[in-house]
Amino acid sequence: MKFFIINSGSSSIKYQVIEMKTETVLATGLVERIGEETGRLKNTFLPGTATQRETVLEQQIADHYSGMMLVISLLTDKAHGIIKDTSEISAIGHRVVHGGEDFRESTRITPKVIEALQRNIPLAPLHNPANLDGIRVAMDIFPTVFQVAVFDTAFHQTMPPRAFMYALPYQLYEQDRVRRYGFHGTSHRFVAGECARLLAKPLDECNLITVHLGNGCSMTAIENGRSIDTSLGMTPLEGLVMGTRCGDLDPAIHLFLKQNKGMDLEAIDAMLNKESGLKGLCGMNDMRDIHQAVASGDARATLALEVQTYRNRKYIGAYMAVLGRVDGIVFTAGIGENDDIVRAESLKGLEVFGVHLDPEKNRLRSKEARRISREDSSVRVFVIPTNEELAIAREVANVLRG
Ligand code: AMP
Repeated sequence: MKFFIINSGSSSIKYQVIEMKTETVLATGLVERIGEETGRLKNTFLPGTATQRETVLEQQIADHYSGMMLVISLLTDKAHGIIKDTSEISAIGHRVVHGGEDFRESTRITPKVIEALQRNIPLAPLHNPANLDGIRVAMDIFPTVFQVAVFDTAFHQTMPPRAFMYALPYQLYEQDRVRRYGFHGTSHRFVAGECARLLAKPLDECNLITVHLGNGCSMTAIENGRSIDTSLGMTPLEGLVMGTRCGDLDPAIHLFLKQNKGMDLEAIDAMLNKESGLKGLCGMNDMRDIHQAVASGDARATLALEVQTYRNRKYIGAYMAVLGRVDGIVFTAGIGENDDIVRAESLKGLEVFGVHLDPEKNRLRSKEARRISREDSSVRVFVIPTNEELAIAREVANVLRG
């Protein structure tokens, strides 16, 4: 049984074909620069397929439909493809950024679901239209195939109002649904499930703090397997210090910037999303570059690292207070999986709460899910690689099973 997983952006389509019996990725690829003069498609058939190979095509790709057709022509290529025709695809999973309050779970796509996604565009004006493009094209090309929308926000719909409400005039919630939604839900849910397996406990008995540190960063407090608080907000800007996003901020800074720098709201928003975070502090947003700069004595790189890890520590402390008992803290995503220094600094001083890292285990590099806390640590600490595509595929399988 093969699933096609699609992550459609405004000018790109990222995809995987996964054999669900073995959860093996057969093909992975990216169509980019859709609508530009020269588009690009890179497709890789992975080890285990008969024709393990990489293909790069550079040509004009007018729209998402043309991009998807190009992908399908490679997948079904008589000499090198991995499927005979599109009927070999049993189901399709679409990543959708914002489900608003309409979607608490991954959902089979129907015309009603598409209408609801359209209604939610004001909540994610950059992302949801691009996700919808991918859905419409796939519905056209695969009209009879079971298709599922998997939302970044759905896992966090279990948050209680005390966690998701902003202290703003209540009408803004009633009329415009201004509230915290949270993102990266598919990743938080996936690593929580893997962590429960490592703890040998049912997920619905686990209290966890999941720490997703990549280019985007977020943290979630999980009580009995359900998200009860998370750091990203109505948009993916709140909370932790990210690659280029600022995280928590005094909202009055907007007015200060307008009055003192003559910036309009669009310019401020662009700055907070694209020129802030680690990049704003030290000019670099890749943590590997920041470590190199720290090693050569760069004071601003050191500051950026300190600001990020201090914020992580504050959030972990807050979520420990929210949860009371914590069975595990899980680090995931590019930085969380690879960076022992960030992990150690983020947990510094938490020994008093029963968090004891094993420095050797923490330093060990591996692609495997692993425990990095000492045997006597009452809160166990794990590194668990996230796998968003596989997480989406498992969600599709769940919906398919009904
Ligand atoms: P992601 O968004 O999960 O793909 O994570 C991307 C980020 O992970 C990059 O911008 C890097 O800052 C970080 N990263 C990737 N590999 C490493 C590594 N080996 N050590 C430290 N940070 C890393």
